[in-house]
Amino acid sequence: DDAAAAPAPSHSQDRLAGEAQEPGDYSAGIPEFRNEPDTNPALEANQRWTEQVIARATPEWLAEQALPEQLAAAEVDPLVESMRAAAAEWAGRPGAERAAILYRAADIMAARRGHLASVAAAEVGKAVAQSDPEISEAIDFLRYYAHSALALEDVEHAEFSPDRLVMITPPWNFPLAIPTGGTAAALAAGAAVIHKPSNPTPHCSMALLECLWDAGVPREVLHGIYPDERETGRRLISHPGVDRIILTGASETAAMFRSWKPELTINAETSGKDAMIITPAADRDLAVSDLVSSAFGHAGQKCSAASLGILVGSVYSSERFRRQLVDAASSLVVDWPQNLSATVGPLTEQPSEKLRRALTTLEPGEEWLLEPKQLDDTGRLWSPGIKTGVKPGSFFHLTEVFGPVLGLMQAKDLEAAIEYQNQTEFGLTGGIHSLEAEEVSQWLEQVQVGNAYVNRGITGAIVQRQPFGGWKASSVGLGSKAGGPNYVMLFGTWQDQPNPA
Ligand code: GLU
Repeated sequence: DDAAAAPAPSHSQDRLAGEAQEPGDYSAGIPEFRNEPDTNPALEANQRWTEQVIARATPEWLAEQALPEQLAAAEVDPLVESMRAAAAEWAGRPGAERAAILYRAADIMAARRGHLASVAAAEVGKAVAQSDPEISEAIDFLRYYAHSALALEDVEHAEFSPDRLVMITPPWNFPLAIPTGGTAAALAAGAAVIHKPSNPTPHCSMALLECLWDAGVPREVLHGIYPDERETGRRLISHPGVDRIILTGASETAAMFRSWKPELTINAETSGKDAMIITPAADRDLAVSDLVSSAFGHAGQKCSAASLGILVGSVYSSERFRRQLVDAASSLVVDWPQNLSATVGPLTEQPSEKLRRALTTLEPGEEWLLEPKQLDDTGRLWSPGIKTGVKPGSFFHLTEVFGPVLGLMQAKDLEAAIEYQNQTEFGLTGGIHSLEAEEVSQWLEQVQVGNAYVNRGITGAIVQRQPFGGWKASSVGLGSKAGGPNYVMLFGTWQDQPNPA
């Protein structure tokens, strides 16, 4: 029958069994790209797996795990020189060989899903329900960019010279997927990679680097360094031997890097202030659940998180809609990852000044619909907050706060709603909920965001299906999106402008 004829999945959906799997042999070629499935929480075996993942994720266990090496400022020059030399050999290998190694790394990562999830839980308090799709995304990046390595081979070689040395400076909010993405893309193109994790997440970085080394990426072309000695980081970033910086982080960080090296080649995804418009023609039940999950997933610590709900006309004044929204937000379980039903976890760090202001104060005209509460004395666990009456041009309208607070704005019509959505300096993600085709096409024409989502949540972009990247101040030097067909082509210089895709 059909089931028997279907190809065997590469990993058992029983995660306990899946963790024992050996990486495949891809010397004869890599299979067609397929997105890696998330763990199915309905399987009893996976519930046991999740319990084990969390039970071992203690601070003592984390302290036993390896860390990236420390690098003194004086060691920067020799490291850069030796990595550039090693990159020449790496880039000289057939693309198929680099692709096979990336596929093996993906298999190893899949087999270590539990280990990676434990590290993310112990290091940043990430719930398994949040880290699990992140690990799938990291695996997708490895496989997707392996295909890009092959696509690059189809281009006349003379036209493309890969970078020699790329530095990856990822954020702490997706400490597995985002650094794996940048690293895999650079390696696929033929560059060597220096990986400098965000300060709170060195163990996450180390765990993913180990997958790559164990798959056969030579140590000479992939280094992880830690900690962020300002002097060392600065010397690396401003070093003439580092060809490109890949940054996901704050706009201020990109500006700081540029101040260190004005001629810097940087590709950065920077900050967002993302809004979802809900019009009277929306399916309101669906809109409520999408708004709540986009606002409060990972405690709002996503560049893509819905920070604003722009409610058009009667939606804003609807008592029923407000009640539904408050009910949905207040029924989320907010707790540390040890509580397996928690969907909103802790903040990775103490709230920033901006976030504290958003959590504890109201600007003129604002009112709490649901007041956020600090739930324990760590200062990191906050229940979701919803404020109404956010005024155009106000602090909360325009500032990225990166936490579990949603602001509601009133717009008299769609025109005004789009104006408010576009009024921020950023343009990363945005959404509309409306079942009116004309409204949707008007919005798609006018909205200024990199990722525009219709009648769904505005986070959780999937590799290949929703390439991810911003517009306006959300993006620096990025003409192509992560997880999309042209991303790997960023990692080098072109003679002319061919389009091999
Ligand atoms: N790619 C993630 C998403 O679509 C967001 C990445 C980020 O927050 O930097 O949700």
